[in-house]
Amino acid sequence: MTHRSSDDRAPEATPFVRRHVGPSPDDQRRMLDAVGYTSTDELLRAAIPETIGAHDGLNLRPAATETEVIAELRSLAAQNRRMRQMIGLGYHGTDTPAVIRRNVLESPAWYTAYTPYQPEISQGRLEALLNFQTVVADLTGLDVAGASLLDEATAAAEAMTLARRATKITSPVFAVDADVLPQTLAVLRTRAVPLGIELHVADLADPANLPAEYYGVLLQYPGTSGRVTDHTAVIEAAHAHGAQVAVAADLLALAVLRSPGEMGADIAVGSAQRFGVPMGFGGPHAGYMSVRKGLERMLPGRLVGVSKDVDGNPAYRLALQTREQHIRREKATSNICTAQVLLAVIAACYAVYHGPDGLRAIAHRVHRRAVLLAEGLRQRGIEVDGEAFFDTVLARVPGQAADVVAAAAELGVNLRLVDADHVGVTCDETTTVGDVLSVWRAFGAEQSGFSELEDAPDALPAALVRTSEYLTHPVFHEHRSETAMLRYLRRLSDMDYALDRGMIPLGSCTMKLNATTEMEPISWPDFADIHPYAPEDQTRGYRQLVGDLETWLSEVTGYDAVSLQPNAGSQGEFAGLLAIHAYHADRGESHRDVCLIPSSAHGTNAASAVMAGMRVVVVGCDDDGNIDLADLDRKIEANADRLAAIMVTYPSTHGVYETGISEVCAKVHDAGGQVYVDGANLNALLGFAKPGKFGADVSHLNLHKTFCIPHGGGGPGIGPVAVRAHLADYLPGHPLAADAKVGPVAAAPYGSAGILPIPWVYLRLMGGPGLTEATAVAVLAANYVAARLSPHFPVLYTGNKGLVAHECILDLRGITKDTGVTVDDVAKRLIDYGFHAPTMSFPVAGTLMVEPTESEDLGELDRFCDAMISIRAEITRVGEGEWPVADSPLSNAPHTAAMVTGDEWTHPYPRSLAAYPAGRHAGKYWAPVRRIDGAFGDRNLTCSCPPPEAFGS
Ligand SMILES: *Cc1c(COP(=O)(O)O)cnc(C)c1O
Repeated sequence: MTHRSSDDRAPEATPFVRRHVGPSPDDQRRMLDAVGYTSTDELLRAAIPETIGAHDGLNLRPAATETEVIAELRSLAAQNRRMRQMIGLGYHGTDTPAVIRRNVLESPAWYTAYTPYQPEISQGRLEALLNFQTVVADLTGLDVAGASLLDEATAAAEAMTLARRATKITSPVFAVDADVLPQTLAVLRTRAVPLGIELHVADLADPANLPAEYYGVLLQYPGTSGRVTDHTAVIEAAHAHGAQVAVAADLLALAVLRSPGEMGADIAVGSAQRFGVPMGFGGPHAGYMSVRKGLERMLPGRLVGVSKDVDGNPAYRLALQTREQHIRREKATSNICTAQVLLAVIAACYAVYHGPDGLRAIAHRVHRRAVLLAEGLRQRGIEVDGEAFFDTVLARVPGQAADVVAAAAELGVNLRLVDADHVGVTCDETTTVGDVLSVWRAFGAEQSGFSELEDAPDALPAALVRTSEYLTHPVFHEHRSETAMLRYLRRLSDMDYALDRGMIPLGSCTMKLNATTEMEPISWPDFADIHPYAPEDQTRGYRQLVGDLETWLSEVTGYDAVSLQPNAGSQGEFAGLLAIHAYHADRGESHRDVCLIPSSAHGTNAASAVMAGMRVVVVGCDDDGNIDLADLDRKIEANADRLAAIMVTYPSTHGVYETGISEVCAKVHDAGGQVYVDGANLNALLGFAKPGKFGADVSHLNLHKTFCIPHGGGGPGIGPVAVRAHLADYLPGHPLAADAKVGPVAAAPYGSAGILPIPWVYLRLMGGPGLTEATAVAVLAANYVAARLSPHFPVLYTGNKGLVAHECILDLRGITKDTGVTVDDVAKRLIDYGFHAPTMSFPVAGTLMVEPTESEDLGELDRFCDAMISIRAEITRVGEGEWPVADSPLSNAPHTAAMVTGDEWTHPYPRSLAAYPAGRHAGKYWAPVRRIDGAFGDRNLTCSCPPPEAFGS
């Protein structure tokens, strides 16, 4: 008889929350001592205003172990049906080279990096993004490309507004070719209405169909139907009219087709998805935009440029940073902040690995498959539309289309049901001979062999066959072997500082753990290889995942409905404001167009309000950093009947729980306005307060902040919009449905669905108590850092009982005034100590905002505080005249290995202090370049790969 005592029971697995939360329970007690509280619960109750606190817990399923959650998710994934995806519509099968999948997509050195605002520690990803820009500029035949946009449809919308800024024509009409992707047209409609832009949709293959007055044109190349049209004539006609022309182009097709630039286009947009990025049920993928010379200063999103460091060595940086919405606010070119960096890097690496010959060969193979497919159909008497196509064949089967599509599905192939009489078939690099046979069978056009078809001529019009060169830079020629590629990727990532090296204490960005168990599922084929427009019975797993997340996110935020469609926080803001506008309009109050925004707000808020057709009215803050309630009253009164909304961040971007929040909500509601709470700081609320319950009507969340999607070097992200019941009807509609009250804000119904497994796994692993502990420790850690650092650097704002929320602002303005040492100097000196800088000069110029998050353990928190205190001591030595400010360890930071091992050393402090200010230690991070001259790069704008000679020997 077996007897089980408590002794021989298997030990309990360590709960995930103990892996996610850095400080152990013992360390938490030590931190509480330093802050002066006896428990985190006591601390949070003191910090969070009583009026908003909700302590009834989160109604989520109990936390499961990593093994259990992966098993659950596997059974969800198994409910998706993987098919040969030949639907087209801008989403294609692609082979991600394994060396890129494992060493970029699945490598924390790449995916845990932050946006490269600190260029000295970001040279690797900046080089990869410069490669991306070179690929896009070369293939589209235009001069300058940006470092990624959110998807093709939103990139087209950005082109629509860029064209308007670039022309003197006052007509509000934007002409759109009828052959553009349907989801692009839907997003254009959403974006056009609030700006008063009128879309004129027509068959623009014939320039005679251009309207009488218009300011810009959008064409698709090849068209959605598959047709390859020479757009030269319509572009010439538009230019003669003074209009700007954008072409939405398929990058792979451009490997064999004449480029939009050579046809005269001003702007090209599109998606880099088929360059090695899986479909992922719609995203994330890198949208792209390139422009002709003269428009580069109007490009939306980020642009990488070449500059030089203080030694004159070439170095990369984000160019024209002043264009960012942060600074321009309501005058910004767009609201894009988080973009699609990781996916742009993958696409660039795909081009580096294949090179121009490889890309040409892939494009040619795809084309030949389509030619063969079409020829086989024709030989069996099926009418195939058009003589000129690249990868898509449009077949005419009167009255039979649905049957053909169903027959193909039986054979494991998804085709596009265009209408009752037409079926679209799109080939890609994964299309096999077997797939072509299946398609023929589905059409009832069985062919026995291929040999007799192989003489069929190409279907690319002779005048459109590409003759111009592309990707001539050596980087696209030197990495053909896997060894060379592996080492190139390693060399790039070694130059960068990401969370795999140490803490990234960026305020407002929540750089917490991105657990491996959360990340692994995104590369499972059952998630990766699903087309966003696959039939519903093939996507049950995904839709369950979406449903779960909508439910759980509603629960933790106190809202009633959630849309996961927005693919960044900025897009969630836009969607939320559209919902507010639609709500007012349905109540006969469409004249309400004023959006109140506190002066401390994130720049995207103002930019989004403008996109939504609203007027921004700024509300001031008082000396404590809180919304100035008297000014709020004045602004409400001055705009009484036109008040649409207020956008507030909670806790505020000043890092405090404003006690006046309930009053703010009440005042705006009383005046007939809606309350938008920017949810970027939700990491300070989960489990303790719910915006949907304390007075807000709508929020966006940043799943790439609070819910563990890694930053990827600047994207991807997900910015779901959450609303109370009265706004639920106004959430973004399906891109292919015409009946929604509000249109879509992204190309795919669930936006970046492919990375939804990350927050799903996080929520399942943490459960309600785990999420609550994460919040508590995040707030504890910020208060611990504030307590340790406040004797050395003034903490700018505190709230209730002198406490901060989940981040704190260190005020350096006095120090700078007294010593000349700037926030920049401190940020760069932190690199020498082995840290990424905190957020600089946001929301207050001359300050550093520190957000430690719950994931950093006490050892790392102390290492950071010690570094800051040590830096303060260095500043004192500057202040006392021991070192001149212009030749101090601060002004010369970061110190490179080349500098400190140089034969000459003329600085007034020793090399050891330069390189190892916290003492010698293994694993020292060396910045690859010295401080970068930003202004030089902006004056001499270079945004594609510089020639190797630029780097000297
Ligand atoms: C990050 C952030 C945003 C923008 O979110 P993205 O996902 O980068 O577009 C908006 N508001 C605040 C306060 C933020 O911190």
